[in-house]
Amino acid sequence: MGTKNTVHARKVVLRQCTGCGQRKEKKELIRIIKTPEENIEVDFTGKKNGRGAYICNSVECLELVKKKKALERSLKVTIPEEVYEELEKEMIGSGECECTPSAGTGRKGG
Ligand SMILES: [Zn+2]
Repeated sequence: MGTKNTVHARKVVLRQCTGCGQRKEKKELIRIIKTPEENIEVDFTGKKNGRGAYICNSVECLELVKKKKALERSLKVTIPEEVYEELEKEMIGSGECECTPSAGTGRKGG
C-alpha cells in the first residue's frame, strides 16, 4: 500500500513576526526595513532593499514589539517613534473598527 501524492503546492514563504513569534505568510505581515543609509522604513510593498523584520498586521503585536524592543534587536538600530506611529496607523486603518466612523480616506496617487 503506497499512495504517493505528488503535491503541487505553491511555495509559501513564511516569515516570523518579531512580536508574537508566529510564522505567517509574507502577505499577512508588514515588513520594516533598514536601508543601507540606516534609515528605518515601513515597506508596504515588500520589495524594498534592506534588512527586513516582519510584524503581524496587528496592534497587539506592535505593542509586543515595542515592549520587547524586538525590532531594535532584530535590525540593530533605534526605531524612531514615528515608525511605530506609521505602523499603528496602518494597522488601525486596515482593520475593521466600528467605534469610529472613517473621516474620509485621503488616497495618494501611485
Ligand atoms: Zn505577531
